[in-house]
Amino acid sequence: MKIEAFARETLGNIDKGIRVSVPGNRPYRERKPRTPMGPVTDESCTQCRLCAKSCPVEAIDFEDCRIVDENQCISCQRCIHICPAGAKIFDPRITPMVEKLVKDWGGVRREPEFFLTRALED
Ligand code: SF4
Ligand code: SF4
Repeated sequence: MKIEAFARETLGNIDKGIRVSVPGNRPYRERKPRTPMGPVTDESCTQCRLCAKSCPVEAIDFEDCRIVDENQCISCQRCIHICPAGAKIFDPRITPMVEKLVKDWGGVRREPEFFLTRALED
């Protein structure tokens, strides 16, 4: 997995005392508060809990998987992708934004980037 390789490389570089610099614009800008948003769940939900187990930020209520903590949700869409019943769907409020993002990407898959590793290679 890429993240494991990244962690190994980073630890190795720290052990060697290699100084790291992280790319980005400085000074960092204050993060603006975002509108709380999360997926919605339709009646086909079987309460299998797969989404709750898979949510990276534990935003989905384990006792009732239809409940999503919108302040916690990072809109990663993992639950939408993983739901076997197709019960989790985009919140209609974010559909136009997602459509625009997909259009801007041109449908090209983007691989994860590890900026710390990249900085060390420069
Ligand atoms: S994965 Fe889908 S069916 Fe299972 S609990 Fe979540 S929303 Fe319901
Ligand atoms: S979109 Fe991502 S963060 Fe939000 S509830 Fe689903 S899995 Fe969790």
